[in-house]
Amino acid sequence: MSDSKKLIYAGKAKDVFETENSDEVIVDFRDDITAGDGAKKDNLQGKGHCNSLISSKLFEVLEENNINTQYIKLIKTGSMLSKKLDMIPLEVIARNIATGSLLKRFPFEKNQKLDPPIIQMDYKNDEYHDPMLNDEISIALGIATQKELDEIKKITLKINEVLSKFLKEKGILLVDFKLEFGKDKDGNIVLGDEISPDTCRYWDINTLETLDKDSFRQGQENVMDIYEQVCGMIVDEEDAKRWKI
Ligand code: UDP
Repeated sequence: MSDSKKLIYAGKAKDVFETENSDEVIVDFRDDITAGDGAKKDNLQGKGHCNSLISSKLFEVLEENNINTQYIKLIKTGSMLSKKLDMIPLEVIARNIATGSLLKRFPFEKNQKLDPPIIQMDYKNDEYHDPMLNDEISIALGIATQKELDEIKKITLKINEVLSKFLKEKGILLVDFKLEFGKDKDGNIVLGDEISPDTCRYWDINTLETLDKDSFRQGQENVMDIYEQVCGMIVDEEDAKRWKI
């Protein structure tokens, strides 16, 4: 918990607190893990720490590549100081390999390479179970303008390029991932939320073993070991020292 700051939002695995600065918030990563629209739940000690370190590292990599993110700094493991954003209710999914729900919905071959990558937008809305959108529906619902949707797609493709390259060097294949964007106080589109094993599919580049939340979805026993392993692969020694882990 972040002192006695006011909670402004509680998600499935993160809490957002206000700060003295109205343009900034603190995002706390909790140990809760859910899958299947919240049907499967658990609490894995240390998961919040792992996800905060991985997200911070990946946000830093994106910032170095001129992509605007909410990230300001990690205050301590688990707690990220972030720009306050007005979130857009979209789950923007990029896919390099056909797996997961895509195989249930469409006749892709299992593990088919998707080049160019597919970008899919789902409506972030629990009541409607996050249905897939097209641009016209998003615009009619007032979720975003065509210009904003085009910009979100362009940024997502760039993020895919940057992260795929970075993670490949760490021995990880970036299979697919989900992003959430918001607008800052000047109306700029900025990447928010997190980029962690909860929101991405990471596969071991050699063995194609799962290094992400699919381990939990599949009911594996060693989920936390997998999160720690992937954290060690992404967060290098220098960062580990900086964050005193
Ligand atoms: N994803 C997510 N939150 C969601 C839905 C999907 O973070 O509510 C991520 C998921 O971890 C995967 C990618 O988006 O990396 C694509 O997920 P998919 O549509 O295949 O859904 P799933 O098979 O996870 O239900």
